[in-house]
Amino acid sequence: MVSRTIPVDPFDLVIFGGTGDLARRKILPGLFRRFLAGQMPEDARVIGCARGDLTDTAYRKMIKEAIEEFTPKTIRKAKDVSAFVNHLHYVKVDALGTSGWKDLKAHMRDGVIRAFYFSVGPSLFGALAERLHSYKIADSDSRIVVEKPFGRDLASAKELNATLAEHFDETQIYRIDHYLGKETVQNLMAIRFGNVLFEPLWKAQYVDHIQITVAETVGIEGRGAYYDKSGAMRDMVQNHLMQLLCLTAMEPPSRFDPDAVRDEKLKVIRALEPLDPDDYVRGQFKGGDGKSSYAEDVEDPASITESFIAMKVKVSNWRWNGTPFYLRTGKRLKARMSEIVVRFKEPPHSIFEADAGNHSNALTIRLQPNEGIDLSVTIKEPGPGGMRLVEVPLDMTFADALGPEAGEIPDAYERLVMDVIRGDQTLFMRGDEVEAAWAWTDPIIEGWRGREEKPKLYDSYSSGPEDALMLLHRDGRRWREIEA
Ligand code: NAP
Repeated sequence: MVSRTIPVDPFDLVIFGGTGDLARRKILPGLFRRFLAGQMPEDARVIGCARGDLTDTAYRKMIKEAIEEFTPKTIRKAKDVSAFVNHLHYVKVDALGTSGWKDLKAHMRDGVIRAFYFSVGPSLFGALAERLHSYKIADSDSRIVVEKPFGRDLASAKELNATLAEHFDETQIYRIDHYLGKETVQNLMAIRFGNVLFEPLWKAQYVDHIQITVAETVGIEGRGAYYDKSGAMRDMVQNHLMQLLCLTAMEPPSRFDPDAVRDEKLKVIRALEPLDPDDYVRGQFKGGDGKSSYAEDVEDPASITESFIAMKVKVSNWRWNGTPFYLRTGKRLKARMSEIVVRFKEPPHSIFEADAGNHSNALTIRLQPNEGIDLSVTIKEPGPGGMRLVEVPLDMTFADALGPEAGEIPDAYERLVMDVIRGDQTLFMRGDEVEAAWAWTDPIIEGWRGREEKPKLYDSYSSGPEDALMLLHRDGRRWREIEA
């Protein structure tokens, strides 16, 4: 397979927080891969900004080390790393002060795309937007990129949106949800809308239920203070799982264009029924085997914040009436696994009496590990002795199906940063989507906070609390195993 890369126009990309973890681990190694793919124009420039005293040379050394740490050895040659870091510059800027801004302005070139990545805490977004405007660094064509957390509830998200809107139009704001940058997530749209096979069946009449799982093995080591104020609902459901749900449930957009896609996603969020108190299970991991418990990792040992949540979500519209979406996500689970499973109904009548009622198709979209798509179909078990049916996978692991080059699936950040430069907002969240998602989650969180509801304890490296299994059992269904 020949990998096609669409060249982009020359750009100045300013990364506020250019020395931080996200910039070193994701953004700059992602850009390096695009550089290797020949997508970075020769005169593209990346300007890292932070408060530290660094020269261009020291910054280049820092990022060279980051690339060595976060890029596989197989794809990086020393000469490529050196050529890439030559695109980098550093300007000392204080987001909250006046120092550095004139210097940054002097670094910007006319006639090239200007993009500003806010890779800093959200408390600095307003100050950055205001200064980019008052120092006349950003213009009406410039783009800004903002990271999660995008608010912690509806009120703060509205405030943040309003702050950014004072200086930037919605068409200039790129809210990153890196789940949308994953190859398989975009493939979900390709599978649905690029084939005639699936879309006619994509409805309550033929789909029994849908499962969306984002399981992590990591705990909250070192992030206890942040995480305890957030929990799984705010940290994962409101953004990542909600986006996956939207892409799975949405109506076909009229075009693959940013607003057409985002309008359809928004309609899904607005169609979500309030969560019934019987339809969710919250959990908190226990310690053991030398690992600390959630309660030990946070300041307040009596914390009622959840590190796990499973829920049955209903999308109240014609397409999905009666087909539940089961969502679950958690920390310190058995394996790192993210997937969407569309479980179809059984055939309405089985002509194979011995096997009646035992078989149904499932389409599994694996986000990690081994990004790919798997369709289980029923066939005859080979051999004599009557008609015995068996389910087999039609496996489309991208690396196997599309050749070795597809094994190097672009990292989400790599794709998203280039989409910013190209001016394509399709895979970014619009302000009204973010607000609608908070409007759904806020009353749920307030409800259990008000009732001081304690999460169920679960063993570290398990599938989560027993009650989460029951959530499906009582409906005569079961979760797919969490496995790598
Ligand atoms: P970090 O490692 O703490 O880095 C923060 C960066 O911001 C540093 O470069 C810091 O450098 C700079 N900074 C802080 N205050 C500043 C100021 N007043 N003016 C200018 N620069 C300032 O944080 P991070 O992990 O990279 O995360 C950045 C943002 O992305 C956060 O909002 C985080 O929630 C979000 N995020 C991170 C990840 C991740 O994987 N790390 C994932 C998703 C979202 P100086 O202190 O030298 O100024």
